Amino acid sequence: MLKKAPSLKLLAILTVYHLLSSTPCRAQPKNWDQGLSKMMDGLEKEVGNDGPPPPPEAAPPSKLPLEPDEIKQETPSSPPATPPQASSTAPDRSRVLSELLALKDNYLGNIAEEGLTRWEAENMPIKIFIEKSSSVKGFDQSYPTILENAFKSWADKSQGKLKINFSDSVEEAHIVCRWTDDRNDLMSQKEGGNTVVVPTEEGIASVDMKILTLPAPNADSISPNYMGRVCLHEAGHALGLTGHSPERADVMFATVYTSDPAVLTDRDTNSLNELYSMDEETIAGIRLNQDRAMQKTNTILDGRNPQVNAVQLNNEAARALKANQFEVAMKKLEAAHKLDPGNKLVCANLGAVYANYGSIAGMTFNLKGAADYYRKAVPLLETGNNKPALIQVLGNYLKVLNILNNKVEANKVEAKLQSITGH
Ligand SMILES: [Zn+2]
Repeated sequence: MLKKAPSLKLLAILTVYHLLSSTPCRAQPKNWDQGLSKMMDGLEKEVGNDGPPPPPEAAPPSKLPLEPDEIKQETPSSPPATPPQASSTAPDRSRVLSELLALKDNYLGNIAEEGLTRWEAENMPIKIFIEKSSSVKGFDQSYPTILENAFKSWADKSQGKLKINFSDSVEEAHIVCRWTDDRNDLMSQKEGGNTVVVPTEEGIASVDMKILTLPAPNADSISPNYMGRVCLHEAGHALGLTGHSPERADVMFATVYTSDPAVLTDRDTNSLNELYSMDEETIAGIRLNQDRAMQKTNTILDGRNPQVNAVQLNNEAARALKANQFEVAMKKLEAAHKLDPGNKLVCANLGAVYANYGSIAGMTFNLKGAADYYRKAVPLLETGNNKPALIQVLGNYLKVLNILNNKVEANKVEAKLQSITGH
């Protein structure tokens, strides 16, 4: 058995932390893999000028032996007991819910029955990408502006709580909005659009929105008013109103009617403002269960939406990591990445898992294995927008390449590192 119990422990802590907290474009954890990095510093000294000693056990890092207690956890076990938090927050949850339901001119209580999530302050201003042109059937040049105005309407009524800005970069954006002429992209035929909100335990991580450019089933064409109402409705979902109002007048009513005005009601804006006025503790007690939300979405979509499937796999990977099932987590993240290569959370997480495997391979003197993992981690961390981790990984990768005497690749990595850090 290799002596790597501490590193495996570290791997578990780092990756779980990373998965749960890594959201695109937010401030990244500062101590991401300092521990691992320090060990990599040690490695250089240990290797010295004599080159690496022959690996005592040349197992490729992907077949890293697990410690006995970790193997135990890999075997199927009885269904997990209810987590202690669930029962301790239960009374809190019902109290919060009844308080919300009692609010006048406000439907946040109706939404809260499924659980709440929202954009947290560290992700503001929320960066929104709107596809400016499209070749889909029925697309009109005016639509991007209508959608932009819909987001602005919500933000303008938020008493300064919601800060948004618009970005031309899909990579940077928290909310990505595109146009579709395929009704199969929609979860509900009553909406004219579809918005997939990806919640984490720390609020919304990302949003994927598709707006249909085809008329409603009972209409011949799309009026600017109808498009305006559809956009307001989907923007409401994207900004955190993940459910619906029971009253038809409200923009967040489950059906978007062609004749209803494209104007937010007081109940719409009150509900959003209440969501962003709640303190952290209260919202934590009533948090939207991400798995349940995703399962529900997937059931409605009949498993047709690869993006939703990717999110589900990502969440399963998070659970696998919590149980120290690193292999399982990696496989699930790889599958998720295949389904939705643009999902930044999946990229950031898979990149982190590869990076950690790379560091572990390096510490066991499997330097080629380490280089392979770092090479795979770099583009993922770039897409995942995790700059601190990227810098760290590039630094480690460079060390390994130098020891391996791979000058060509080392020069490339060094140049990339310089272009990111500016020195
Ligand atoms: Zn809706």
